[in-house]
Amino acid sequence: MNALPETINAKAFSAQPDYDEAATRRAFAKLMPLRTIIIYCYDPRAADIPAAVAKEFGDTYPGQILTDEAGNEIGTDATVLNVVVAGGRAVDALRSITVAQHLFGIKNIVVVHHTHCGATSYTADGIIDAFAQEHGADISTIYPRESVCISDFGASLKHDTALIRRSAGTPPSVDIFGYLYDIDTGELTRVTEDRAAT
Ligand SMILES: [Zn+2]
Repeated sequence: MNALPETINAKAFSAQPDYDEAATRRAFAKLMPLRTIIIYCYDPRAADIPAAVAKEFGDTYPGQILTDEAGNEIGTDATVLNVVVAGGRAVDALRSITVAQHLFGIKNIVVVHHTHCGATSYTADGIIDAFAQEHGADISTIYPRESVCISDFGASLKHDTALIRRSAGTPPSVDIFGYLYDIDTGELTRVTEDRAAT
């Protein structure tokens, strides 16, 4: 293992001598106009989901990285943030939603589940039993059962959009959508939506 150079933490924003938290936050929001969070599966076959969602919502993806005169990468014109997790389940995305709102301010949250997903290949009991036998570990209480796998796409999408809406870390002003992505055809189908109260 290599020790990190002592100077490395000087590259943290909060370590700057003139660090101003509010000003730093304003600068982030200006340099990164991100507004749509897409939560989808880490299956490599699902990699085209962000482009499909960006097209549906009129977002810029993947966009360009913006540089300053010195060539430092300081921002982007992309408007999409990807949260890539097993099955695209919302339980793994709640903290990322809160941070994205704080730093960038978001407008849309789009949950996408996909056909032939690995998360549909096992059951909650199956993964809990396997972990007990193979690793001597009890995982029965560390994840909510309804978020462990997928057996019904309509139910999983409705569950996840509702879970996001109920979170105190979700700004009430966002619109939340649930889509199914067909791996074979690349087609997106809107299954559920929960618009912000006006
Ligand atoms: Zn998947």
